[in-house]
Amino acid sequence: MDISVVIPIYNEEANIATLHNRVKGVLEGMKVSYELIFINDGSHDRSLNLLLELAAHDPQVGYIDLSRNFGHQIAVTAGLDVAKGNAVVIIDADLQDPPELIPGLYEKLQTGFEVVYAKRRSRQGESVAKKFTARLFYRLLASITHISIPVDTGDFRIISRKVVEGLKLMPEQNKFLRGQISWIGYRQTFVEYDRAERAGGETGYTYRKMIRLALDGITGFSDAPLKAATLGGFVVSGVAFLVMLYTLYSRFVTHDYQPGWASLMISILFLGGVQLIAVGIIGEYIARLSANVRQRPLYLVSNTNIVS
Ligand code: UDP
Ligand code: MG
Repeated sequence: MDISVVIPIYNEEANIATLHNRVKGVLEGMKVSYELIFINDGSHDRSLNLLLELAAHDPQVGYIDLSRNFGHQIAVTAGLDVAKGNAVVIIDADLQDPPELIPGLYEKLQTGFEVVYAKRRSRQGESVAKKFTARLFYRLLASITHISIPVDTGDFRIISRKVVEGLKLMPEQNKFLRGQISWIGYRQTFVEYDRAERAGGETGYTYRKMIRLALDGITGFSDAPLKAATLGGFVVSGVAFLVMLYTLYSRFVTHDYQPGWASLMISILFLGGVQLIAVGIIGEYIARLSANVRQRPLYLVSNTNIVS
């Protein structure tokens, strides 16, 4: 098997047929052996029926039906776990990632790279808020992590068997695949493309899911927030110490002091805020620690036609 294409599906009934046609058209033109792996991530619409139909008619289609919605990153992981190809393409189902780019990615992979990711030159049809938060997030992440996670890059990419096996060795519960793939290393490169609009349906990435992904990226690959909490603690304590000296000085030396309600309120509120932030940051890491200590399986499969 030359290429496996992993496609996570969450309420994509409007896109599955077109996607299947386009991906298939592209791969048929490449003279390679391939398989398509669709992962149904607990869709509420007719996606699963469409996938079952595809699988019944097209022997190259495999599907995994997860027991509920586990989220994009875990759906992709489930696909990687069963993919048999020497190279694996990860692509979104909504046609925002053009399948026509696959030959280019594959060609570049053949020239001695283990990862070729698709970097967005522009993105269409997405809200200003989404573009702005995405830009900000990638820059922030790049500045506080030690490994270089490419900016403006989603999960659309081709990875070699070596990298897939590397990912399988990383059992973390809070997946941030593009970070993990950067961490794995080897020779990586990119090609640029213009990101299209979503072909049909609606985004499955709510702000809630986006924030979770961002926090997984940051906590999974950086201790900077924890260190910032410590540093902030020192700075605030330093200032508090100076104010203490000043207070004692006014009280006992100059005897010039007011019944200081304002200063008390401000310092209590400020310290309370700083402490809560610091505790919250620690909490984020501890939540992830405990998730990993539980050793639960990443996902459960309800049904599949893939024999491994
Ligand atoms: N997706 C998924 N589970 C989810 C949310 C999304 O498998 O909980 C899939 C979705 O079907 C699509 C890909 O992940 O193939 C990217 O999602 P989407 O296009 O909604 O994200 P956006 O492009 O808006 O960031
Ligand atoms: Mg999309």
